[in-house]
Order: sequence, then C-alpha cells, then structure tokens
Amino acid sequence: MARLPVLEPDAETLDLFAPPPAEPLPPAADAPASAAEALATAGAVSRLLRVGRIYLEPGVVDYARGREILARFPDAERVEVASHWNIPGLHGNEGLVRDWTRVKRDTLVLGVRKSLSCRPNGRSADYIAPGLSNGCAMACAYCYVPRRKGYANPITTFVNADEVLGFLERHARRLGPKREPNQVDPAAWVYDVGENGDCSVDALVSDNLRDTVARFRALPNAKASFATKFVNPALLGYDPRGCTRVRFSLMPPRVARVLDVRTSPVRKRVAAVSEFVAAGYEVHLNFSPVVVYDGWLDDWRALFRDVDDALSPAAKAQLACEVVFLTHNEALHLVNLGWHPRAEALLWTPENQEAKESEQGQRNVRYRTGTKGRFVRAFTELLGRELPYCRVRYAF
Ligand code: SF4
Repeated sequence: MARLPVLEPDAETLDLFAPPPAEPLPPAADAPASAAEALATAGAVSRLLRVGRIYLEPGVVDYARGREILARFPDAERVEVASHWNIPGLHGNEGLVRDWTRVKRDTLVLGVRKSLSCRPNGRSADYIAPGLSNGCAMACAYCYVPRRKGYANPITTFVNADEVLGFLERHARRLGPKREPNQVDPAAWVYDVGENGDCSVDALVSDNLRDTVARFRALPNAKASFATKFVNPALLGYDPRGCTRVRFSLMPPRVARVLDVRTSPVRKRVAAVSEFVAAGYEVHLNFSPVVVYDGWLDDWRALFRDVDDALSPAAKAQLACEVVFLTHNEALHLVNLGWHPRAEALLWTPENQEAKESEQGQRNVRYRTGTKGRFVRAFTELLGRELPYCRVRYAF
C-alpha cells in the first residue's frame, strides 16, 4: 500500500512553482460591497490569478459580461482567437509541465458558449448543466478537467451567462414539480453548474456565479449545485435562500497538501461550512477523491472529528455527503511524473488498482473490484460512527 510522502511540518497547500505573493489587486468596480469582503476577494485574486493575457473570441465584446471582465483586468494583453478550443500554444501542451501552474495563474480565456444541453446524471445532481466556465486556476494532481482541453487548462469563462441561465430556467420549468424523491434531493431538481471547473474561483473573474445563484433563487422546483475546494467569502453575500447547494470537497489535510495544489487549506473549507449554511446555502460534503494508503482510515477519523467539532447544529441538521474513491488516468500519471512525482506515489498504486477503458477510450485506473468494495464499506462504517447525522447520498 502507498506510503504518504514526508511533508514539512508547517507545509501549507503546495504550489510548487508559484513566485512569492504580490500585493493584492485593487477591488474591481463591481466587487462585493463590504470592504472586508472586497479585500479578501482581492487577496484571493492576487494569490490565484494574476491575469497577464486574455485570449478572447471576437464576439466577447458584444456582451456586457465580456466587457466587465475585460475592464477588471485592464493591463492584460488581449489575444483574439477564433475559438476557445484548441488555442495554439495553450491547450494540449502537456510537455510544458513546468509552465502548467503559471499558465493557470496568468491566463484567462473568454468565449461564447454555443452548445446548450442538460445531461441526466443521477449522482451529484439530477442534471449536469451547460457550465459557464471550464478549466481551473487550481491544479489538483488527480483532476480530470484538463483532459478535455489539454493539461495546462486555465479558466475559460463564458460571457453569455444570460442565454445559458435562460436555457436552464426553461429546462427546469418544463420539468415541473419533482414528484419522486431521490438521493440527489427529495423535492428539487438539482443542476450541477460546475462540472468542469470550480465556481468559487470563477467568481473571482466574473459575476456569472452570482447571477446563477440569483436565477435559481427564483425557481420554485430547482437547485443549483457545485463542488468546490476554494473558500471565496464573496459568495456569502449572494443570498441563495436555500436554492444553491455548495459541496465542499474534503480529504485528510496531510494528503490534501500533496494533491490539492493551489486550493484553500482543508481547515478553511471545514470552517466555512457553518458560515455558508448561515448565509443561506445548503452545504454538503464531497469526500473525493478518497485515496488509500497506509493509515488512511486513521486520517479520515481525525478529519471527521474536526468536522464534528467545527459544524454548527444548523449545519449538522442539513448535512449529507457523497463519497467517491480515486479514479486515475494513465496519461495524467505520465504528465504528473514530470512535475509532481510525490503525488503519484499516492495516486498510482498498481498493486491495488485495475485498468478500465473510459467512454472516451482513455485508460483509467481504479481500485480493484472486491478490494474497492471493502474500502467503501470500511469508509462508510467509520463515517456512520463518527458523523451519524451525515447522510450518505452515494458512495462508490
Ligand atoms: S478544484 Fe476541481 S476543477 Fe480545479 S483543479 Fe481541483 S479538481 Fe480540478
């Protein structure tokens, strides 16, 4: 079984190639109202994003959202591209492993979303919504998001949020009331609005998430939902009134320090749960990916106890979780060996993993059938003992 790499005792979230932090950017014109919120947001922008180049499709400036974003980063070089897909020198350059995190920090892509369709899901949500972004400024070593556009995959923000949200609203209204409760939600149709990125970080770039929360607030039969590893205090002012579900992703902190590159520390995510509930969000926990190594269950027990200590009674009363064991990918493994081999010591453990061809023809690996069933049972039994009020929505 894999052994956890030795970490420095005071190591925070790992960012292997980040230069020292710069001065925070001044808040944008449409930044959150309170000064504390604005300052916190500006600090986060400074740490995660220092946009020096924006690739944009020609139609972007026709949208108010596009112009707002461009005004937010006035000094960035603008490079017009025919499409947000396959930008030469940006996407598919897995050879440039050392540039990977720099590109995520320095580069933003703006586009107009063309395809609008909802995909039935049944796990994290009833439907996967057409996202208002893809790509991410963070760089988790196991992330599947870069596979679609190539490995240095910074945030692409779509500027036609009104069209996308209008489509979603019509979709939800056509469905009518949800008559059969399911594990996703007893009463609301749930749309995952952040399948290919992290909406909390996207909110540093634009008001797309703020608009999404507002649109779902007005829908009587639907909820927005997204998983996140980033605590963005600006979201506390969005007034979701129970119509947006945030799923904070958690894993034992000493593993997160190796795998969750550029994310908020786990203790901050845990501390945020009660605050987000108090601000009107439904908050679930996303235990994903669960990685197996020597001592993994002891680390999860400690994390569950931290969660139990931190959560308010109101947060506990509404809590549920999803549990997803690690799936890894051979191509990503080979790339990671070039920039983050310590992560691969945890993620690539052929002695207890088996290969499986994905629908896209990629070679994925997951824990072996049988062995994985035992891991899932051990995890859910521990969870049931430590956090008996935390309903397991699904575990696999
Ligand atoms: S936060 Fe999510 S989308 Fe971003 S790198 Fe990590 S796993 Fe990928």
